[in-house]
Amino acid sequence: MTTLGNYINGQRVGSNSGRSAPYYNPATGEAHGQVALSSADETRAAVAAAQAAFETWRKVSPLKRARIMFKFKELIERDAEKIATRISQEHGKVYSDAFGELTRGLEVVEFACGAPHLLKGEHSLNVGTGVDSYSLMQPVGVCAGITPFNFPAMVPMWMFPVAIAAGNTFVLKPSEKDPTVPIMLAELLTEAGLPDGVLNVVNGDKEAVDVLLTDERVEAVSFVGSTPIAEYIYQTASAHGKRVQALGGAKNHMVIMPDADPSQVVSSLLGAAYGSAGERCMAISVAVCVGDEVADHLVRDLTAEIDKMTVGPGTGQKTEPHMGPLVTREHADKVLGYINTGVEEGASLVVDGRDFVVTGAEHGYFVGPTLFDHVKAGMRIYEEEIFGPVLVVVRVDSYEEAVKLVNRHEYGNGTAIFTRDGDTARQYSEDIQVGMVGINVPIPVPMAFHSFGGWKRSLFGPLHVHGPDGIRFYTRMKTVTARWPTGIRAGAEFSMPTMK
Ligand code: NAD
Repeated sequence: MTTLGNYINGQRVGSNSGRSAPYYNPATGEAHGQVALSSADETRAAVAAAQAAFETWRKVSPLKRARIMFKFKELIERDAEKIATRISQEHGKVYSDAFGELTRGLEVVEFACGAPHLLKGEHSLNVGTGVDSYSLMQPVGVCAGITPFNFPAMVPMWMFPVAIAAGNTFVLKPSEKDPTVPIMLAELLTEAGLPDGVLNVVNGDKEAVDVLLTDERVEAVSFVGSTPIAEYIYQTASAHGKRVQALGGAKNHMVIMPDADPSQVVSSLLGAAYGSAGERCMAISVAVCVGDEVADHLVRDLTAEIDKMTVGPGTGQKTEPHMGPLVTREHADKVLGYINTGVEEGASLVVDGRDFVVTGAEHGYFVGPTLFDHVKAGMRIYEEEIFGPVLVVVRVDSYEEAVKLVNRHEYGNGTAIFTRDGDTARQYSEDIQVGMVGINVPIPVPMAFHSFGGWKRSLFGPLHVHGPDGIRFYTRMKTVTARWPTGIRAGAEFSMPTMK
């Protein structure tokens, strides 16, 4: 069995840490191989490579950096099938979903192709007579990214294309559960002309991550993962003087008003709750029905539609199943544990995804689509992120009660409201304490040229990822005020200078 190592200074290097972890094909339960768990010293070597590369990369013109991104985009398109197949084989999501993930990552590369425009800064003529002021958007230095298993291509691509296009160098520590694709992407960037050391990939666990959080050569840390780790990353890296954006977990609510289009609600909910087996930070995991009539209809219609859903390994064919397995046996067991908990807590289990066997893939980590009704605040299946194909229905009596429920939850990543009433939708987007809001759109993931991020315990740090906030995060602004000899030549001024 081979061990996947690191990508440092433009080439694959093995690890001597003596530690590794297996990673699997979740649809079959077979191990693909081992991934290195790099030592602190190996991680420092990646940081050193990034620091050395920064000295020249920061001076490369944004136009030249953008041209490498254009080439990178072409190469991703060339290899898209290969990359999507690999995502599907290591993560378990079906091929079409893997292809969609790659496309959303590619859109960030397209955004980064606009680097010359994005890094223009601001200019003011005559801030004083004969005095001009302008800003420089300079790179911050060595940046680090630590990413989760659920989007092995897209989430790293939220980070490194923007950071690199802005003139930074980067060390990526991907998830150890599906580690191959980030190295494939790094190799494509080398092929696109990226100088060695600008993007490095270090596989590992806490030992590698702790170096990235504390090494004084790292200036900025981007993290996406679960909330307890996000909080740890934010606190540790901030305490070591770094700028940090740490995106955490989620429990996304969809509020369904009595005037919503019922068939639109059902089809939207099915995809948003069960797509990617619910392993999406923007998955809808709570349906909030305003009124018992709405809830009764929804539960009846959803049950009928879930019955028609297909579950199995991704194939890449048109007849591909709707949903694949969970990422590991351990995670599938955790999700099954939550279903047991929901039953013990007294929620009504309408569709039971336990004891779900896929013929021909008996060793895969499958959990069937699961639906609970009559779920209440305070139950663990309502409060905690399950991160599996489990949708819970909560019944409320009014719009106000729905808003109160969503706003009291500790997470605030995404939310949606389904209604035909523009006033209600507008009010909801204003009232709700959540970072991304959909109006009749179940998964409102912002496009690459906007920024992505939640509120409350779904994001630690002020800046969201990609889009304008991504540029702000990966640049340091410097403001220059300039006067030339033809300007005012009064004698020394001892009072605060004002416009003359
Ligand atoms: P995770 O927190 O377990 O791991 C994320 C990363 O942190 C991995 O690279 C992992 O190796 C590392 N890590 C794990 N434990 C660590 C520790 N003790 N110290 C240092 N580093 C550690 O998350 P996951 O299970 O890979 O991903 C699922 C989670 O990610 C879910 O909670 C999901 O909501 C969240 N997520 C959030 C967003 C978002 O945009 N907010 C997007 C995708 C995923």
